Amino acid sequence: HSKEQGRNTYTFFTDQMNNDMHRRLKVEEQLRNALNQGELTVYFQAFVDIHNRHVVGAEALLRWQNSQLGNVTPDEFIPIAEQTGLIIPIGEFVLENAFRAAHHWQNQFNSQFKIAINVSPKQFRENKFVDVLTSLLGQYNIQPSSVELEITEGVLLSGDQIINRNLAAINDIGVSISMDDFGTGYSSLSYLRSYPFDTLKVDKSFINDITVDPGDLELVGAAIAMGHGLNLKVVAEGIETEEQYQLLNALKCDYGQGYLFSKPLPQSEFEALLEAQQEPDNIR
Ligand code: C2E
Ligand code: MG
Ligand code: MG
Ligand code: MG
Repeated sequence: HSKEQGRNTYTFFTDQMNNDMHRRLKVEEQLRNALNQGELTVYFQAFVDIHNRHVVGAEALLRWQNSQLGNVTPDEFIPIAEQTGLIIPIGEFVLENAFRAAHHWQNQFNSQFKIAINVSPKQFRENKFVDVLTSLLGQYNIQPSSVELEITEGVLLSGDQIINRNLAAINDIGVSISMDDFGTGYSSLSYLRSYPFDTLKVDKSFINDITVDPGDLELVGAAIAMGHGLNLKVVAEGIETEEQYQLLNALKCDYGQGYLFSKPLPQSEFEALLEAQQEPDNIR
């Protein structure tokens, strides 16, 4: 009997593994043509000055709509893009689209408008990354100080020399560097000390329960205080409710991002948001 059970368990695991593997291969196969087929789109999610709720910038977030797979989330396809190297052309596509939009919004609405872009470890490990970045900044006439590159601790884990060089070069040209998903990785604290970060983005898993979990509230307060102590700006991600907003405002967090203010939007809808904000009546 136990032998049979063992066999069933085995079958169950292999079936699951088979499904996962097929899904992964399918996603990879479709992802290879996604750029050429025009299936990738850059969406924009507002971030606001916590103090007055004004939209001061946007984070570029990729969306992928495939004819066979439907909508595939970045959490699924970004790791595959990383492993296959497809993230290099895809990452350039994101930079171009984000800069093109930011240039337009800086002319139209606010010359200080900030654009935040997620950068994967593989992109950061490329020798030519800073050259590509610099040339795109020139091409779209974007001030480096209005650009924020979001990296996770995964970038720093390898300790590669090339990463140190790229971080230093990016800092030198005046582009800001954010630590994304702060609090979810390994040795965040030592990394903050050793690298030229400008901004700390507190992960939404900590923001989620701040109104009900005193421990989480304490942690977020400590992260904000520590960030300020290190001369960093602090962003809270995943703000969904007015109550969360009020607490973060009281804790003197600098910026906020989340569904309370806006979901990630296609470029034209994001633009409507900026237009609405320009109407004096709508300034809160
Ligand atoms: P992230 O950089 O931490 O981005 C924030 C994620 O939180 C986004 O998920 C956003 O839609 C979601 N979010 C924002 N506000 C709220 C909220 O109030 N509640 C909840 N529940 N979620 C909220 P998304 O767009 O699915 O992206 C997931 C991750 O995929 C990103 O996390 C980022 O790590 C990665 N990613 C997305 N676009 C790119 C890209 O262009 N390049 C790279 N390398 N990674 C990307
Ligand atoms: Mg991010
Ligand atoms: Mg700096
Ligand atoms: Mg994040």
